Amino acid sequence: MSNKNVLVTGGAGYIGSHACKALRDAGFTPVTFDNCSTGWAQAVKFGPFARGDLMDRARLDEVFAEQQPIAVMHFAALSQVGESMKEPGRYWRENVTGALNLVEAAVAANCLDFVFSSTCATYGDQDNVVLDEGSQQLPINAYGASKLAIEGILNDFEAAHGLRKVIFRYFNVAGADPEGEIGEQHVPETHLVPLMLDAIDGKRDALTIFGTDYDTPDGTCIRDYVHVCDLVDAHVLGLNWLKSGKGSQVFNLGTGEGFSVREVVSHSHAVTNRKVPYVDGDRRAGDCTKLVSGSSKAITELGWKPTRSDLETMVRDAWRWHQNTKAHYSE
Ligand code: UDP
Repeated sequence: MSNKNVLVTGGAGYIGSHACKALRDAGFTPVTFDNCSTGWAQAVKFGPFARGDLMDRARLDEVFAEQQPIAVMHFAALSQVGESMKEPGRYWRENVTGALNLVEAAVAANCLDFVFSSTCATYGDQDNVVLDEGSQQLPINAYGASKLAIEGILNDFEAAHGLRKVIFRYFNVAGADPEGEIGEQHVPETHLVPLMLDAIDGKRDALTIFGTDYDTPDGTCIRDYVHVCDLVDAHVLGLNWLKSGKGSQVFNLGTGEGFSVREVVSHSHAVTNRKVPYVDGDRRAGDCTKLVSGSSKAITELGWKPTRSDLETMVRDAWRWHQNTKAHYSE
């Protein structure tokens, strides 16, 4: 049988573990490369685990030699907007140097197909601009800037070494595996949906809404939420796109529909039938007013068919995982 190994960096994390499941279901063997600094060994369920750190080039070379992957999916990164404004050095060092080590190791191993998780945060805060793949990239936080730098690395390695890449710029990812095997678990948690579910459940204090004076209809930030399972399905399509020789591409992954923080709160109330305790707070540094994808390119060109990315399904799936504490990770 021919080799079907795909190296998945960050495969022990939220999005990476869902990608591993989707890859396994599509007949690939996901090989997780993760240092478990934010991920969970228990989330590595769908293929082998090669523990390692992207800052360790020798370990990367060893894993490429052992596993002979046919492609790379690169998820591992620091990914919190607020933290990136407080500790920009870590974001530049770990995200950019880690990616550079990975790309160099991949090229040295002649593994030239690369799927990269980038972000809508590379676009920054652009009023009344439809965010499609051709929009200017003007990040306003160190997280977005570090991801944009990695896109630049990939472009240069394509020109010099023939790397082929599919870059996905995600909007906001939410939800969990509907079969309940894996879900979103961060320590500390910083993302809106899991924090809100914790507050509903009394596991933490009221949710703080970060800013109520934005230039939006209800004053709170607007985001475009996409279900993690739909998102990772696009990654499998991206991998097949590269393997069928279609060449490098960039795709936004969003639904084109934006919801304010207050709207997410009221949908969650409806889905859980529980009161969402919240307080209005100050703005969080680095937050854009509105990030909504204006592109359907992933649907029309890649053949992406999102099926779970309505807010109700995302919150319901996240809530099911949230309540299934037996399945939660502990180490
Ligand atoms: N948000 C909030 N309170 C929180 C966490 C997030 O009001 O405790 C808001 C945040 O300002 C943003 C949206 O929810 O407008 C989504 O934030 P998240 O951190 O989940 O994702 P990001 O957009 O930063 O990638």
